[in-house]
Amino acid sequence: MGELHKTKYEFKAETKKLLDILVHSLYTSREIFLRELISNASDALDKIRFELNKGTEVENKDLPLEIRINFDDKKNIVTVSDTGIGMSRDEMIANIGTIAKSGSEEFLKQLAENKETANNIIGRFGIGFYSVFMVAKEVIIRSKSFKKDEPAVEWRSDGLGDYDISDLDEKIDRGTTIEIHLKDDAKEFADKYRLQGIIKKHSNFISFPIYLEKEKVNTIAAIWREPKSSIKKEQYDEFYKFLTYDSEEPLEVIHTSVDAPIQFNALLFIPKKSYDFWRFNRDDYGLDLYVKRVLIQHQNKDLLPEYLSFVKGVVDSEDLPLNISRETLQENIIFTKIANSVTTNVLSHLQKVAKDNSERYSDFWKEHGRIFKLGYMDFVNAEKYQQLLRFNSSFNKDEKELTSLEDYIGRMKKDQKEIYFAVGSSREAITLNPHLEIFKAKGLEVLYLYDPVDEFVISSIRKFKDYEFKSVDSADLKVIEKFEDVETETNSFEKLSKDDEKHFDSLLAKMKDILGDKVTEVKESKRLKGSPATLLNADDSMSSTMQKILKMTNKDISIPNQKRVMEINKDHSLIRNLLEIFKKNSNDQFIIDTTEQLYESAILLEGNLDDPHKLVSRLNRMLTEASKFYVKLNKEGF
Ligand code: ADP
Ligand code: MG
Repeated sequence: MGELHKTKYEFKAETKKLLDILVHSLYTSREIFLRELISNASDALDKIRFELNKGTEVENKDLPLEIRINFDDKKNIVTVSDTGIGMSRDEMIANIGTIAKSGSEEFLKQLAENKETANNIIGRFGIGFYSVFMVAKEVIIRSKSFKKDEPAVEWRSDGLGDYDISDLDEKIDRGTTIEIHLKDDAKEFADKYRLQGIIKKHSNFISFPIYLEKEKVNTIAAIWREPKSSIKKEQYDEFYKFLTYDSEEPLEVIHTSVDAPIQFNALLFIPKKSYDFWRFNRDDYGLDLYVKRVLIQHQNKDLLPEYLSFVKGVVDSEDLPLNISRETLQENIIFTKIANSVTTNVLSHLQKVAKDNSERYSDFWKEHGRIFKLGYMDFVNAEKYQQLLRFNSSFNKDEKELTSLEDYIGRMKKDQKEIYFAVGSSREAITLNPHLEIFKAKGLEVLYLYDPVDEFVISSIRKFKDYEFKSVDSADLKVIEKFEDVETETNSFEKLSKDDEKHFDSLLAKMKDILGDKVTEVKESKRLKGSPATLLNADDSMSSTMQKILKMTNKDISIPNQKRVMEINKDHSLIRNLLEIFKKNSNDQFIIDTTEQLYESAILLEGNLDDPHKLVSRLNRMLTEASKFYVKLNKEGF
């Protein structure tokens, strides 16, 4: 067989590792190997149909486009054949011998986290073919490329360490045949009913006929082309699971048919669970684009903006040319119009859900809201987008409840012109924020933003309808004070005497001295109700959360010192005591310590304290002093 140009090749290290796992540790749902091979056959058929539509010269151009599955229950062999695009020797080495490194690494990582999901994710990482080694002790691939001058080739491997490729001396038709020699413990698959069951379950919607021993098994229905009224929920669910490999049914089904000005059908789904777009597999999204029922592109990324990438499904149009190339799609005006219309459709559907079933909408929001928020750049659909945003707010009873901007506006005070928001890591953290005290006293609603993206959203959309967003730490107090108090003040402090007012002013000056350049001013507060002090941003400076985000995303960045104003609550016990001490000795160490402590506590609350050492050692010193004082008092019999 020397003249057949037989060559041995080693699998790459990561391929070996993957094969080892597939062969030795995955025993559940081994049947999905067939789904993967049929899916590859279907891809190969899509590709040849595409070439035929373009008018490319191809081998055996009149072969019917189909998939055939045969078995031999004596020899324990199953074969999967297609009349697709085929593979040349080089393509076999490139496509079968090597796996995309990123794919296998991601797969192994996920596998380490959860073995059960392996079978659901195998197909998503470009390693589907290898699943055949869960059931095979040897695999032989025979393939003839659609290119006329490429010789037919044969690939053989036991999936252990290497594989051979040789030229075939017999003549074969265009396409690929995979011959699977079943392992002893996998003989069950050489059985008609078993195979039929698997095909029905996983491959029913493949758009080419699948023959099992001459009998057609699948029902090739482009259900997106059927009238909505004729489709049952079960059919939608089945199609969705086929499309996504999800084991659950979808949260939402969006089935639309548009005739004018451009004809298209779309069948879209919103999954119950987010695909965790953030952690891995950023490319695993997009809609399948069909033209006249022919698949033109799998996972097209331009039919929907990225912030709607959680949507799965297909779009099919009569009005695009069959031979359109993927490269020129984006410039095609009809395509652009379809894409715009698909986007509006999804947003309108979400609006309808939000209106009719707020509980369902909040399920949606919890799962997909993080991606959805990235739509703040979609200026065309800004109005719809803003209507769909959700936040937690001070008027909600817990962290789970959601508020829309429309809700907020509906609850606004008479003459309120701004939408107030506060930023923090959790509801508890935000409610501790002293800046909120006055809003509470005035009964003004405040949106709570927990997700760092929220502040980008707010600062880029700037206002909702005519109402500007205002952070609680930069809101204009003169405006806030005009609203009536809703809570009666429980202030037990007497007013300061004229003299003490003067001392208080000197105390403020002293505190400014102590803090030096760290603040631009120390002044009396009108907003604080329960806290002794707080820090504010001078009007034009960067908000503290923005600083935090900048630091988080860019460790080396040096943010210019922000101008801060420290406000002191005159009607707080600590400050009243401080005033007494100040009157006795204006240079008392306690005044210095307390002032620095108040400053750093405020910084700490914002989450911006870089070095806790000084704070902790000062605190320890003060506690020691306080305890000494307490012991002394006890001794003296108080
Ligand atoms: P994926 O299908 O995600 O690319 P697979 O491991 O399933 O990953 O297949 C790897 C590659 O092998 C395919 O992308 C394709 O290039 C090639 N291939 C597999 N099966 C066939 C087939 N029946 N016909 C032609 N090419 C195939
Ligand atoms: Mg595949």
